[in-house]
Amino acid sequence: MHQITLIAGDGIGPEVTRSACEIVLAAGAHVAFTEVMAGLRAEMECGTPLPAAVFDSIARTKVVLKGPTATPFGGNYRVYIERKDTEGRLVKRDYPSIAIALRKELGLFVNVRPIKNYPGVASRFENVNLLIFRENSEDLYVGRERMIDEDTAEAIKIITRGASERVARFALDYMGKLGRNKLTIVHKANVMKLTDGLFLKTAQETAKAYPRIEINQRVIDALCMELVMKPETFDSLLLPNLYGDIVSDLAAGLVGGLGMAPGANIGSDCAMFEAVHGTAPDIAGKDIASPMAMILSAVMMLRYIGETTAADRIEAALSQVLKEKKDVTRDLGGTAGTRRMTEAIVEKLKA
Ligand code: NAD
Repeated sequence: MHQITLIAGDGIGPEVTRSACEIVLAAGAHVAFTEVMAGLRAEMECGTPLPAAVFDSIARTKVVLKGPTATPFGGNYRVYIERKDTEGRLVKRDYPSIAIALRKELGLFVNVRPIKNYPGVASRFENVNLLIFRENSEDLYVGRERMIDEDTAEAIKIITRGASERVARFALDYMGKLGRNKLTIVHKANVMKLTDGLFLKTAQETAKAYPRIEINQRVIDALCMELVMKPETFDSLLLPNLYGDIVSDLAAGLVGGLGMAPGANIGSDCAMFEAVHGTAPDIAGKDIASPMAMILSAVMMLRYIGETTAADRIEAALSQVLKEKKDVTRDLGGTAGTRRMTEAIVEKLKA
């Protein structure tokens, strides 16, 4: 039995994670979920959105299924954490958001985000099948920002050879296992000559050891234009953290929206699975959010832990429900609620 730490999250998080967990269990996966309190409720009750119990649970399970968590815009908001490290020493750190805190503390250095068309879901493009690798640990997301004076703010962008090589190697190995053979490195090295220049050069050098994979590169602005005109010409994309965050949402829009885009944050001994979308406060609690991105994130989790039969069964049941169209949420072209879509998938699994 695989032990999984569950973070339900904020906004639509509890609705979509509940859906994903029910479906995972209905598919007969050998997993047991331990839910930990994190996010807004934990902040109110414990004074931090990530109490030490979250890290204690993850230290045991090594695998996390996470719903989206809220981060206020602007201001001085920080996520303060206190926890014991592997040697039992108390560490205190702070981060700009919960997702960043977890990714950094758990060493989850890459975010893998597959984005593709699904039969039955209307979208602007057909034949999109992108695999996005987002560097997850540095860039402008290190959260080193400050006001120099009342009218001037500064942020520091960090790119290292080590992190760039690690994510490039991961992407190339991952592509090799899936039989994918075209990688586009995305950057802005014409302006950010040192930081993005180092990312591009390191990725290109790393790729020399993978002669079967065709490597090319694009400046981020040109990539965005090409993606919204001919997305089917791209296979896999490797991006620094900030561009990866933005391009993931753009790519989700190419195939039908954020309700369809799953993600996996992977490190050397731990992994966390979460949808690309956020807490969607505009639709939270209304039973209209698409659970699909969260379900597909759970499918990635099942493949990661080796529960491939359950993963295949869920994908097949979801595909059937999408093709039939009558039990899907409105962003997927239907009129059903989150609950009804979940029940329909469970019914297919039990049929
Ligand atoms: P969002 O992704 O929550 O919402 C953007 C738009 O997409 C909204 O119109 C929303 O209704 C729609 N949408 C999102 N998920 C959907 C789903 N499953 N089904 C149907 N429609 C869906 O982005 P936002 O509004 O910029 O952010 C809201 C909050 O989420 C912020 O506090 C932000 O910090 C947080 N956030 C968290 C994560 C994370 O935990 N990994 C990621 C992104 C944003």
